Amino acid sequence: MGKINIAIDGYSSTGKSTIAKQLAKALGYIYVDTGAMYRAVTLYAMRHGLIGETEEELKRLVTHLPKINLQFVHNADLGFSEMYLNGENVEKEIRALPVSKQVSKVATLEAVRKKLVAMQQEMGKRKGVVMDGRDIGTDVFPDAEFKIFMTASPETRAFRRYKELLEKGEKVTYDEVLVNVRYRDAIDSNRKFSPLKKAENAIEFDNSDMGLEEQLDRIYNYALRKIEETNA
Ligand code: C5P
Repeated sequence: MGKINIAIDGYSSTGKSTIAKQLAKALGYIYVDTGAMYRAVTLYAMRHGLIGETEEELKRLVTHLPKINLQFVHNADLGFSEMYLNGENVEKEIRALPVSKQVSKVATLEAVRKKLVAMQQEMGKRKGVVMDGRDIGTDVFPDAEFKIFMTASPETRAFRRYKELLEKGEKVTYDEVLVNVRYRDAIDSNRKFSPLKKAENAIEFDNSDMGLEEQLDRIYNYALRKIEETNA
C-alpha cells in the first residue's frame, strides 16, 4: 500500500512527539522531530556565544550555518532516533530548559528556517514520514495527506512538561515552565516567517482532557482512513 506523509503541528508540550513517535511505530513509518533540529542549532549558538539580545546580534548565527551538521541517528536500544550535532549526541542537552528558553528566538531567523525546512522536505520525499513541529502542514509539507493540529491549555501543557523535566532530574519550578510555555507560544505564533497556525485542512485536536491511549487510538484510525483514501 502506498505511503502518505503525516504532519503534526501544534503548541509546545501538547504531546506531539509522543503521539508522532507511537503513530510512526504503529504504521511502520519514519518519525522526524523537527523541534530537535531547531534545538540543536540553538545549542550550537549558545556554545559559540551567538545568542544576542537583538535581532542583529542573533543574525551572526547565519554565517555559521554551513558549519552546523545535524543528523538523526537511530538508537536501537531506545527504539528511536537521537539528534547529533557535528557528530556529538546532544539529545539530553537540547531538551533541557536553558535551550528551551532560547530556541524560539533562533527559530525566527529566516535563514535557519530555510536550511532546516529544506532538510525536512528531503526526508519526506519518498513519503512514509510522521513529522512534528510548528509549520509542517503549512510550509514543509503543504500537500501532506493527513494533518493534525494539537492544542491544550497552557497550564495543562506546563504541568506535563514540568513533570517530565523533574523526572529527568532537572531543578525547575512549575511557574518557570509555565512562563516558558507562554513565551514560546507568543513568539512561535507571531513571528514573521512561517508562524505557528493551523493549516486549513488540519484536524484540530484538543487533548487537555484526553489520555494518551484514546488520542493514539483516534489518530491511528484517522490515519488508516487517509491511507485508504489515498490508495483508492
Ligand atoms: O517541538 P519543540 O518544543 O521541541 O520545538 C522547540 C521550538 O522550536 C519551538 O518552540 C519553536 O520555536 C521551534 N520550532 C519551529 N518550527 C518547527 C519545530 C520547532 O519553529 N517545525
